[in-house]
Amino acid sequence: MLEPQLIESPLVFPYCCILCRSQKGPIADTNVEIPSFGRAYLCQLCAKTYAKLYGFAEGTELDIREEAIDEANALRRENTQLLEQLGDSSVEIASLRKEKREAITELEARAAHISQLENTLRQSAAAAQEHLALVGGQHSS
Ligand SMILES: [Zn+2]
Repeated sequence: MLEPQLIESPLVFPYCCILCRSQKGPIADTNVEIPSFGRAYLCQLCAKTYAKLYGFAEGTELDIREEAIDEANALRRENTQLLEQLGDSSVEIASLRKEKREAITELEARAAHISQLENTLRQSAAAAQEHLALVGGQHSS
């Protein structure tokens, strides 16, 4: 016989606690198949009821543990969500870095083009000055 184990939710028929029909996880899978019923699961609430009945633990102590377990499960879920969000943010940051690199490359290309245009303008201005001097020379002679 397989050992019982705690699982997130019932995986096979009838997908519920054998005693109260709750489907709430985490739930104990007894790994026992009951003919004409299916898999025997035992929910946390029923397990707690019977643990109290056998005097395995004081009610308050059991309540505190139950709260701690619920809190730990909630924190685990939150942690999983945060890790997913972190993954999304990393992808976004990588995309923004790529955009920044492309923008820098574009700006460098434009700066080079502007520099070329300035050189051309300076050459044209110099040529114009020369032509003006020539025209001025003809006038003065
Ligand atoms: Zn139950």
